[in-house]
Amino acid sequence: MAGGWKGSTTECDYLTKLPNRGGLFRFYDSMDRKSVNHYMFLDLDNFKTVNDIYGHSTGDELLVLVSKVLVDNVTEGSFISRIGGDEFVIVLPGHMSRTDVENTASAILHAVFHTGKRRDVITHISLSIGIVIQQSCDCSLDDILCKCDTAMYRAKQSGKNRYVAYDIIEREFLEWRKIENEMRSALDKKELRIYYQPRMNMVTSELVGAEALIRWEHPADGLLDPEQFLPVFENTGFILEVDLFVFESVCRQKQIWNSADLAALPVSVNLSRLHFYQEDFSTKLIEITDRYNVDRSELILEITESAFVKDTIQIEKIIKTLKEAGFKIAIDDFGSGYSSLNMLKSAYIDELKLDGSFLSLSGHGERGRLVIKNVLSMGKDLKLELIAEGVESQEQVLFLTGCGCELAQGHYYCRALAMIEFEMFAKEWKRKQEHAVRFSFCSTLLDESGMYKGEFKGTEVTYGKGVVKDRCAIYFPGGPVKQNYLQLPADVLKSESYSISLWICPNELVYWVSVLFIEFDNGFASLVPSAWEGTAVYRMKDDREVLGWYDTRCCSLPVNQWTYLTVTYDARSEICRLYFNGRQAAVLEHIPPLRITKQIMLGGDKYQPSFRGYVCELMISDRVASEAEAESMYRGYLEQQGFGISEQEKTAEGFVLHF
Ligand code: C2E
Ligand code: CA
Ligand code: CA
Repeated sequence: MAGGWKGSTTECDYLTKLPNRGGLFRFYDSMDRKSVNHYMFLDLDNFKTVNDIYGHSTGDELLVLVSKVLVDNVTEGSFISRIGGDEFVIVLPGHMSRTDVENTASAILHAVFHTGKRRDVITHISLSIGIVIQQSCDCSLDDILCKCDTAMYRAKQSGKNRYVAYDIIEREFLEWRKIENEMRSALDKKELRIYYQPRMNMVTSELVGAEALIRWEHPADGLLDPEQFLPVFENTGFILEVDLFVFESVCRQKQIWNSADLAALPVSVNLSRLHFYQEDFSTKLIEITDRYNVDRSELILEITESAFVKDTIQIEKIIKTLKEAGFKIAIDDFGSGYSSLNMLKSAYIDELKLDGSFLSLSGHGERGRLVIKNVLSMGKDLKLELIAEGVESQEQVLFLTGCGCELAQGHYYCRALAMIEFEMFAKEWKRKQEHAVRFSFCSTLLDESGMYKGEFKGTEVTYGKGVVKDRCAIYFPGGPVKQNYLQLPADVLKSESYSISLWICPNELVYWVSVLFIEFDNGFASLVPSAWEGTAVYRMKDDREVLGWYDTRCCSLPVNQWTYLTVTYDARSEICRLYFNGRQAAVLEHIPPLRITKQIMLGGDKYQPSFRGYVCELMISDRVASEAEAESMYRGYLEQQGFGISEQEKTAEGFVLHF
């Protein structure tokens, strides 16, 4: 015990035999005024519960146990006191370093939890510790205890069973005050800037929008992230003004974009929950969009999930007004902790934004993946737009697209960018004008634009009945390599990324015959309706690699039945996808791009004989179709007038035509 403390019995705690509050004060008075010490304030968490459940004698037992833990874990020369019911104060000698003090606190936390006695009771409790480091004796003990108490209270607030040092809080407090003093002028001096993080379609690798995120370009402290200053803005209500500033800046920017390349690009804006207590909030937003002549359907208002925890009726009322005014509404940070499935029932929600921390569940084995998969599937059923945040890897891209989530924001694609950089990014990644060539093969081999013309090779390639009334198919009779095929001009496919879709009806099951063959400068691609038993394959071969075979495989095409097949290859993500009647059937990643088309052959291959059967409605495009587009192309046929099948033949599995 510290410095051979000798207190009177009135200054000693009857229970633990430690000095009591009076003892602590007398010890403090006896200390050298020039000395510097460390102080630790310990408070038992949930002590009242223990008293209530187990009775006071167990509570007493526990206090004795804790006092022993303290005595066993402090350095020689420390002074330990019990100053109240479940409160202890320790004075530690000043020669200890900060790390020593912190280690002592950690050791106490650990020891309390691992004391072998009364495990039944111990599991209910823990300690919250407030620490004051390097404290001189030139002030009153009350002042010191007050600091200790503040730090201890913070430890409790942050989740108990931990220690917090007062100087850290003090530093935070000073930073907080600094922000509070500077924020107004920051807004006036235009130090608050808007950065834009691209929203991407993961299947097409195209830019589909942006989220406006605030940054503080601080003249002295550099670029500050929102987490450094937003809590102050929120706490002071200044966020109300800042959000409107962000919103207006976005509208101004959209007005500029409207006369340039980025017209109609949707932009998401974050809104603090505080707005939902402002009656004139929606009127203000509408007024701003009118002033800048911005289409409200191109603005997505993001409301964080936790906002829905209370006052839901009030919040829903305002959301309804905003929705009716034409804005899109998104629930932000979905899955970050407060998820209320209740709010999903709201008819005013357009979009669900999956929180990055939720996505990280996908790394937590099968169960984690199942949770995400089912949440996404629920969102889909509710017809919500789904977007994943914090996407950082290709594995996540594959997993999410596999679950039917096509949109993402994340460092895998890009961080939030300043305006100029964003515009540069957009130039490269935004959706380009599609160049698509369509062949309907109606007694002619010209494409729809009349610019490209195919050529029959061999004598037995003929026209047959297509899937749409009055439109033809090409019939391939099979036969040896390079004998019967249709040659298409190579410049039909000018891009490394592409979509190809066509209706195919094989007439016999023969392995390793080809429907479509594309020769590139550095390899080839070939579509084989039956490769191995039960398997169709879109094979890409990269000649630069010895083992450069990339087979995207799905189930083989049924014989004597029409199937609508779509192949997409995206050179940016290096992913190839196969769609069977509009549904994704296979995906393969890490395929290097094949460049410069040299020839395109239908019904045959340089190396393998032709398949026997029909092909029609061929479309080759330089854009990667999204899953939704692949499906809608397929549905488009089903709904087309004169689509040549009877109702009962229109099944998801395809349909049969008899020749
Ligand atoms: P948020 O709305 O969830 O925005 C997404 C945050 O995730 C952004 O952080 C973004 O930079 C970050 N992020 C994006 N991709 C990745 C990734 O792949 N990995 C990781 N680790 N992080 C990624 P930021 O810009 O620091 O913004 C933090 C939060 O501050 C935002 O979270 C939003 O809640 C809030 N905020 C930002 N700007 C505003 C604003 O103008 N008004 C309001 N009310 N809140 C804002
Ligand atoms: Ca957001
Ligand atoms: Ca978010």
